Amino acid sequence: MKILNPADDTVITELSDDTPEMVHNKYRAARAAQPDWAATALSTRLNAIRQFRELMVRDTEQLASVTTAETGKPIRMSRNEINGLLGRIDFFLEQTEKTLRPASVFDEGGMREEISLEPLGVIANISAWNYPYFVGANVFIPALLTGNTVLYKPSEFSTLTGVEIGKRLHEAGIPKDVFITVAGGGDTGAELLKQPIDGVFFTGSYATGRKIAEAVAGRMIKLQLELGGKDPTYVCDDVDPAAAAASLADGAMYNTGQSCCSVERIYVHEKVFAPFVEAFVNEVKGFVVGDPASEKTYIGPLTRGPQVEVLEAQVNDARTKGARILLGGKRIDKPGNWFEPTVLVDVNHTMAVMQEESFGPIIGIQKVSGDAEARKLMNDTEYGLTAGVYTKDATRARTILSGIRAGSVYWNCCDRVSPRLPWSGVGHSGVGLTLSTYGIETFTRTKGWHLRSA
Ligand code: NAD
Repeated sequence: MKILNPADDTVITELSDDTPEMVHNKYRAARAAQPDWAATALSTRLNAIRQFRELMVRDTEQLASVTTAETGKPIRMSRNEINGLLGRIDFFLEQTEKTLRPASVFDEGGMREEISLEPLGVIANISAWNYPYFVGANVFIPALLTGNTVLYKPSEFSTLTGVEIGKRLHEAGIPKDVFITVAGGGDTGAELLKQPIDGVFFTGSYATGRKIAEAVAGRMIKLQLELGGKDPTYVCDDVDPAAAAASLADGAMYNTGQSCCSVERIYVHEKVFAPFVEAFVNEVKGFVVGDPASEKTYIGPLTRGPQVEVLEAQVNDARTKGARILLGGKRIDKPGNWFEPTVLVDVNHTMAVMQEESFGPIIGIQKVSGDAEARKLMNDTEYGLTAGVYTKDATRARTILSGIRAGSVYWNCCDRVSPRLPWSGVGHSGVGLTLSTYGIETFTRTKGWHLRSA
């Protein structure tokens, strides 16, 4: 496995993929370690994660550089991600004990009923590269805290980050067989799924998520899939168009547009369309494109080479069908995976750019006549991860958002994740959830206790 720097195609290092035999041995080790880990006092598990948090603070700069080198994420954003991780860890540290506390739900005439939460066992955590700390830790932190052992396969595009995470968990006191990193690409992930694991927690594309669901079908194990999106936002006619444009340009282009909850489609009320588009284009022109290791950079390379062709195809398809390109529209001709920040108007839903996940610095902005048309278009998708509305009117926002099929909805904000709220998708955006206290419970199975004292 060659680890490439997507900013210039240079080889950072070469690693060996885990062979099927290695994957199986790692599974066996995780299985053998699980009962002891589940029996370890929760306070010990919490202390280890607290220590892990300290190591993330200690090593922020070093870790950010590793992530930027292998994914092309602008260095400020790699640092932001690690800092953002601390709040998520704090949430899990604060909430796990309360969440795991057994509940007594009935106690009368010598009959007592209780509910307890038990670990699932050995779980596979198959992860994406775009937010390797967030999407990995949403799974492995609560999974470890609730007594599971974890086989963690980072994406092949963020393996070095995954290895560094593993080293720090071990240094923090998580036993080496309780958290095990598995290195490799899709074949290694498929190999992992052949093991008799108790659950699979996946973050990635719909196409792979579907293969994973098929691979474990019939095994009656926990399946959780956090998949892609084609996240829409509607800008109403009562907003300050410049303020909405500034917020949404960031929501569309942050991390070079490679966030699962990036704004991917914008609908703008016809009354504010022209000033909104003008302000949006000006905002994007201000984004510095360049070396991801530079502090000034806002837009870096795409992490995966083939995605440049996906964006080219979307632009060509849109242009052929009548779209106008106001900014960008083509690859940047230099080594690495570069694409110009791109703004398209006169777009419609016959175009791939308004239907398929772009996952890059490209956005289509469509004019609409009012709320009913906006809502119809927002729901015209197989996906349902997030959706947003910009308006001064809270009632209008709630009315529109209550009719949208999406796991998360936003009023006057976008591209936002909170540890306190569940993160989930509808349709091709996935099944199950992470984060919030539900995202702790999800790593457990409930047991009902019927206890007669005499
Ligand atoms: P991907 O589907 O290409 O790969 C994800 C992981 O699956 C990688 O670790 C890969 O090695 C592994 N894999 C590939 N084929 C496999 C197989 N047959 N069996 C088992 N594992 C296999 O996705 P990606 O490019 O890493 O991530 C980008 C996608 O992830 C986007 O669609 C994005 O929207 C989505 N995403 C979603 C969320 C969310 O929270 N919903 C968060 C981040 C990313």
